[in-house]
Amino acid sequence: MTKPLIDTFGRIHNNLRISVTDRCNLRCTYCMPEEVTFLDKGELLTFEEITRFVEIVAPLGIDKIRLTGGEPLLRRGLAELVKMIVRVPGIKDVGLTTNGLLLAQQAQPLFDAGLRRINISLDALDPGRFRQLTRRDGLEHVIAGIQAAKRAGFDPVKINAVSIRGVTEHEVVPLALFAREHALEMRFIEYMPIGADTWERDKVYFAHEILDQLEREIAPLVPVDDYDPRAPAMEFQYTDGGGRVGIIASVSRPFCRSCNRVRLTAEGKLRNCLFALDEVDLKPLLRSNAAPERIAELVRKNVWDKWEGHEINTARFIKPLRTMHAIGG
Ligand code: SAM
Repeated sequence: MTKPLIDTFGRIHNNLRISVTDRCNLRCTYCMPEEVTFLDKGELLTFEEITRFVEIVAPLGIDKIRLTGGEPLLRRGLAELVKMIVRVPGIKDVGLTTNGLLLAQQAQPLFDAGLRRINISLDALDPGRFRQLTRRDGLEHVIAGIQAAKRAGFDPVKINAVSIRGVTEHEVVPLALFAREHALEMRFIEYMPIGADTWERDKVYFAHEILDQLEREIAPLVPVDDYDPRAPAMEFQYTDGGGRVGIIASVSRPFCRSCNRVRLTAEGKLRNCLFALDEVDLKPLLRSNAAPERIAELVRKNVWDKWEGHEINTARFIKPLRTMHAIGG
């Protein structure tokens, strides 16, 4: 392997999130607007172009990939892409983040293709609240998707819920109990200023409040034995043996100092931070078969230029123009 992908703060990058589409079959209010102009199909990187990119960055130390979107299961033939990526030498781990609506049909083919990690986003178990948040129906399909993921052999199956004050507080305990009952790993994510809604700090239902609520209404929690303070999720286990719960406190406890991620948007823009204001357009190079060294050099430079952190908690924060669905969450 050559020199690792490092930035000026000494952070080494091994984690790549690839968006495979900006389309989505939900319209979560905190993520995207109702009316959106999606990319034309021809603007999306092809599976060959995505795989070529992975082949270029794997020797730079990228060994962990997560496929996302938009809703990645809307991209036809996704299992084929998984097969292509798991074959790339150096790639150790391929994961997927999905809203689960189409997972009942796709869980097994994806598992068979080599996908091993799965995160399913589900913010509410109450059908009315689900509709309010997602502006669509389909809760029962998500539940069927979760069951299918378990049957297919994914272990653990992680459930991600965004926590928004006044909107999802009443869902925290039902979701946590649902996860305990079905041996799922529940993770709550603090609401971030990256969606279409007007974000205000007061709307974040904070990590410590979620923890208090879980301890009060379910059971005491202690950090897990293999607790990794650098990982995005703070992981806890119930003292009554009821499993684990994770909290991603992106706002109240940013993990920028240990960030190891870069992102590739569906149309081939490289972003060194979820909140990046600049991006590098790699599609023309990938499409014209440019020399791998040239692409690798651009990736190195993009990572080298990464800023210290997202600045959400300062007056300097600038919200990126892209909303989450067009970046890849
Ligand atoms: N459609 C897939 C899904 O729902 O998991 C993948 C893309 S989605 C953008 C990825 C994750 O980003 C979801 O878990 C979603 O809840 C989260 N997300 C979107 N907007 C967010 C926001 N403003 N704050 C925190 N998380 C957000």
